[in-house]
Amino acid sequence: MDYKKLGLKCGIEIHQQLATKHKLFCECSAAFQDREPVFEVKRKLRAVAGELGKIDTAAMHETLKGKVFRYKVYMNESCAVELDEEPPHPMNRQALEIGLQIAVMLNCEIPEEIEVMRKTVLDGSNTSGFQRTALVGLNGWVDTGFGRVGITNVCIEEDSAQILKKDRKGVVYGLNRLGIPLVEIGTSPDIHEPEQAREVAEKLGMILRSTGKVKRGIGTIRQDLNISITGGSRCEIKGVQKLNMIPKIVEKEVIRQKGIVAKGKNVSSDVRRALPDGRTDFLRPLPGAARMYPETDCPPIQVTGRMLERIKKSLPEIMTDTEQRLMKQYGLGEELAKQVVRSGKAALFEKLANVSDAKTVANVLTKYLKQFPVPDEKLDEFFGALGKKKVPKETLEGMLKQLSGGKPVKDVVTSAGEGLSEPDVENVVRDVIRKNPQVMKVARPEKALMGLVMKDVRGRAPGSLVMKVIMKEIKKH
Ligand SMILES: [Zn+2]
Repeated sequence: MDYKKLGLKCGIEIHQQLATKHKLFCECSAAFQDREPVFEVKRKLRAVAGELGKIDTAAMHETLKGKVFRYKVYMNESCAVELDEEPPHPMNRQALEIGLQIAVMLNCEIPEEIEVMRKTVLDGSNTSGFQRTALVGLNGWVDTGFGRVGITNVCIEEDSAQILKKDRKGVVYGLNRLGIPLVEIGTSPDIHEPEQAREVAEKLGMILRSTGKVKRGIGTIRQDLNISITGGSRCEIKGVQKLNMIPKIVEKEVIRQKGIVAKGKNVSSDVRRALPDGRTDFLRPLPGAARMYPETDCPPIQVTGRMLERIKKSLPEIMTDTEQRLMKQYGLGEELAKQVVRSGKAALFEKLANVSDAKTVANVLTKYLKQFPVPDEKLDEFFGALGKKKVPKETLEGMLKQLSGGKPVKDVVTSAGEGLSEPDVENVVRDVIRKNPQVMKVARPEKALMGLVMKDVRGRAPGSLVMKVIMKEIKKH
């Protein structure tokens, strides 16, 4: 398909949970681990007149449905703020700073003042009937292989309550997700190829993870796509789970809109839901311009020059740059460097690789830890004791097994250091001679042999023993 000719316009919106200790507007834990609710409250939404004396028709429409919303309350993860019985507390500074950091990394302009706004929410997913959101960056950009894509906005906002159950009578929500800080990133509709959409989503995700301050795992990141073609209409596709599905979803949406346009019909502006096979189905009509108004319970926050300076100075290294650096600085292969960075253990790797063998450290962190879990402090002690010694795979596995079984580092490393017996060393020496027959012809073969054998047994056998065995073998020849 010629997407340029079809006039494909696509934008992406990403919502990512931040890994802060507390929620955005209260001191409840943002860990999202409470599973057992302590009680439940029932609420109904009632439309009221706005400042101009008019009742919003969409709000009235929802009121008339008479739905009952039930909210599950959790001990550590909800309080009177989530229940909308207490005004919001001051904004979580850590969340704000992570948001500003992301905005700077996306080349955004930073407003001088952060203003909290209320965005009307009518589905009950927020007890107050609105979501709090604050713009922290605008007019940024990100580069792709297809060209530059604008970043229209970076916002810090509250996550909504999680749907636990839904039926004809109403919805049951969990309050533990409500108020977890999110960063929302919206791009301009500058994406003109399906593959470019995937690239943008991947790059934004990578920049977010580079901060080391975002949550990982299912449900912590949500991607929406806005898609239109010439003669069609903007449709928002929600719930895109896998990055690899993005090109397919864009392609199928273009085909759908193209089909409607070809029949001479109008494409309606919908919110659609992504299905696992890349198709989409209708969810609801796209709302008009977002209904936003100021949150008068939150005073504006000044972004001082000093604060911005501090954030710019402490920007994290982008993951792809870290990968390149690990390859160069520590001699890791590309795949291994990627694995180290993606495991989120790059900092630990660098600390350990400075005292021990870099490749061994990388392999342990990315491969062996799943099988033999060893806490970071113990790994630190272990690699410190091991030093630059290279140990064979079997020995390493054996040691990690003992460590994960609770054995202290000093016992594990000492027993490995005892290493090879005299017959073991003889086998190694004979093997080296067999593979390198030319060394026996030089003037002092023991010197050349010593170098070759020590490469293999360093740390596992003392040099004096190796020399003794070498001299014995030379005499036999
Ligand atoms: Zn709370």
